[in-house]
Amino acid sequence: MLTLPVLLLNRHFAPVSVATVRRAVVLLFSDAAHAVDSGETYDFQSWLTQPVRSEDDGLPIVGGEVRVPRVLHLLRYDRAPRVAVRLTRRNLMIRDGFQCQYCGRSPTQRDLNVDHVVPRSRGGLDSWENLVVSCRTCNLRKGRRTPTEAGMALLSVPHRPRWTTATQIRLITREPFAEWHPFLQAG
Ligand SMILES: [Zn+2]
Repeated sequence: MLTLPVLLLNRHFAPVSVATVRRAVVLLFSDAAHAVDSGETYDFQSWLTQPVRSEDDGLPIVGGEVRVPRVLHLLRYDRAPRVAVRLTRRNLMIRDGFQCQYCGRSPTQRDLNVDHVVPRSRGGLDSWENLVVSCRTCNLRKGRRTPTEAGMALLSVPHRPRWTTATQIRLITREPFAEWHPFLQAG
């Protein structure tokens, strides 16, 4: 319960990150943030009076339960951080749409590899520009050759993704709460 995700919005109601309920409660209690629900904001005291409905999660407190907030409005935070997208296998898969960048097929994830365009043995780097998603078949066929040597063209030029904070939050959270949708739509 304390590790459920809570969406954090900056002073201008733009998404900045995701926190745990544990941290959200501290922010709410210390009046650094207000809870957001259906277009209304609530400070800690008024949030305590909100009922815990069947669709909510409840946090046990002395004398009862408090509704777990899904979205918090940070009252004094007005930056809009643009976090660098981490170079991971999953983010590469998302960037390339789970599609082999040589033949265009979309096999199951198990049959997808991450391919060094310029092979590591030839000085190719672990970078957004040198890594693409490839199916096993193309990976084997290409071997330790460059695409040109192998006569295999790339579907697109690989690059660092330019995802907004909202997009990143959508991508890293498998099942965002419905309450998050209005704030994640832009961007
Ligand atoms: Zn392929």
